Amino acid sequence: MSQTGSDDLHARYLELRGEVTRHNRAYYEQDAPNIPDDQYDALARELRQLETAHPEWATDLPDEVSPVQTVGGAPSSAFLPVPHPTPMTSLDNVFDDAELRDWREKLARSLNLPPDYDDFTFTGELKIDGLSVNLYYLDGQLQWAATRGNGRVGEIVTAQVLTIPEIPQQLEGLQGELEVRGEVYLSRADFAAFNAQAEELGTPLLKNPRNGAAGALRQKDPEVTRTRHLKVILYALGKRDGVPAQSQWEVLGWLRERGFPTSRYSEQLRGLEGAVDYHARMVAARADFEFDADGTVLKLDSLRLQEEAGLTSRAPRWAIAYKFPVEEVETVLESITVNVGRTGKLAPLAHLSPRLIEGSTVSKATLHNEDYIRDMDLRIGDTVRVRKSGGVIPQIMGVVLEKRPANAPPYEFPAHCPDCGHEVVRAEGDANTYCPNPACPSQSFERLRYFVSRGAMDVRGIGEKLTLQVLESGLVKDAADLYTLNAEQLAGLERGGDKKAQNILAQLEDSKTKPLWRLINALGMNHVGQRNAQALARAFGTLDALLAATPEQIEAVPGLGGVIAQSVSATLADPNMRGLLQRLQEAGFAPQAEEVTRTGELAGLNFVITGTLSRPRDDLKNQLEAAGGRVTGSVTKKTSYLIAGEEAGSKLARAEELGVAVLDEAGLAALLVEKGLS
Ligand SMILES: [Zn+2]
Repeated sequence: MSQTGSDDLHARYLELRGEVTRHNRAYYEQDAPNIPDDQYDALARELRQLETAHPEWATDLPDEVSPVQTVGGAPSSAFLPVPHPTPMTSLDNVFDDAELRDWREKLARSLNLPPDYDDFTFTGELKIDGLSVNLYYLDGQLQWAATRGNGRVGEIVTAQVLTIPEIPQQLEGLQGELEVRGEVYLSRADFAAFNAQAEELGTPLLKNPRNGAAGALRQKDPEVTRTRHLKVILYALGKRDGVPAQSQWEVLGWLRERGFPTSRYSEQLRGLEGAVDYHARMVAARADFEFDADGTVLKLDSLRLQEEAGLTSRAPRWAIAYKFPVEEVETVLESITVNVGRTGKLAPLAHLSPRLIEGSTVSKATLHNEDYIRDMDLRIGDTVRVRKSGGVIPQIMGVVLEKRPANAPPYEFPAHCPDCGHEVVRAEGDANTYCPNPACPSQSFERLRYFVSRGAMDVRGIGEKLTLQVLESGLVKDAADLYTLNAEQLAGLERGGDKKAQNILAQLEDSKTKPLWRLINALGMNHVGQRNAQALARAFGTLDALLAATPEQIEAVPGLGGVIAQSVSATLADPNMRGLLQRLQEAGFAPQAEEVTRTGELAGLNFVITGTLSRPRDDLKNQLEAAGGRVTGSVTKKTSYLIAGEEAGSKLARAEELGVAVLDEAGLAALLVEKGLS
């Protein structure tokens, strides 16, 4: 820019602000920028420079937050404080019907009605156990999303919240200010899936879905948040310019109409009796909710009466949270057993005096790993508090120390495999402990069971008993040995005799040509279940291609994270695994090839291009894609290479932060030569 006066600069500032806001929206709505990255970077940089020179400009629009400080800015700009235009109050609680009646009486008095007045209409809603958020719209455009914070000031989490695709970013025909409030949560299913994977990886487990939602919102990298599959239910308005609703029930209807996710459990209720009945029905149904809820919320329906009733110092008089009874029982930890799985992982299990919780008897709870037991200082004979987390899985919440038997010694995690006696190992940074002995009978048994299981080779007829027999007879040591068995040997072991033996042999023969993913899964590699096996099969097509893959190519398989990919590479390179696969191939294994997702020299590699290059960007993009590479708009952990030209901006910083390899044009040329592409 040439010589410009301050007025012109301010005009330029406002113009930039609008433009960057627009591009941010396009980016987050379509997951694809509508201008080249370098142009966007330049605009954002200019805007930031102006804001640095004139910080007052950034704040003199009190109802807006500058776009470079929110969605599209550097990741570090998330979590900035923002005042809620209308405070987000908390709710008072009641715990039984009598307290609910007291609340109704106080409500009546605050409206100058007789205390026994009961001609109220309420709405009943579920109190979801998640995190409250406030979405702020100006003239129908989403400006920011923030956490509740202290109720007056929250923290900006726009990019994180916008990983929930259902949230509308634009509302047609709306003028003025609008605040939409709701609860961001992790579903019970996603909670269970997250913990199942964390368990395998030996990474920290989530205590409950609420912690999971909080952790996901606290991620600096929205792409990490996205992998957590957050959901949202909206149920209230703060500022509500232009919303025609007269009642809470109409607010919910309006939200639904405008495309906001709302709860299917909300109801309009008549009087105290209606409220009590609704609560009782929700208590009975709570095990079936797709999310954790810790109570119901009862609200006076009429917005006019709500205003009239007003607020106490803490909470509105017109709404109340009616808490669910906490189903937590005390029981005794009788013993801890440790099983050894197919990967050698030691899995501790708590045996509890049986107790009824939420309708089913609980007598066992997984203890996950050594740290989990030590952090709670669980001791045999302890009285423990048990709940169902996520509505289903029994979980030990803690120890009742006053009831600890005198002289109960701390629990000692086994130093030796409980099955084969081999010394166990635990790698640094891994919460899991393993028996490293490949000949460990428990592991051989579990590996063989896994190999023939339904989700793997699906060989029917080889049950637990036969598995044990073939191992004990010494005829079989691993899966490849199964294919050396003859009818005579099988008939000698199996009570069913010849006919059954023939059937098993036919099934084994048939398994040799099953799809590749079944074999990959059947190998029982650490962290590889059906889903990752399918991803590997799709990416490489044949067993030979998988075995020839470099660690980088495996890392680039969609869905496989760094830890998993490294583990897969290491396992496939292991001489024992190679030996097993060779013997399976010699036995005639020819798994059905899979259709490869992408072919070509750059298959499985993800590229991001930024900065100014000596050739048109589309030209390069076409070349990379023609060779099977994938070109995306934003740098994530999945990015294989950032190709950075001159004046590369935020993407370069991002790549460096994530440890993504960066190539300049010379580096790219070298890569293409290496891949035989030029
Ligand atoms: Zn062992």
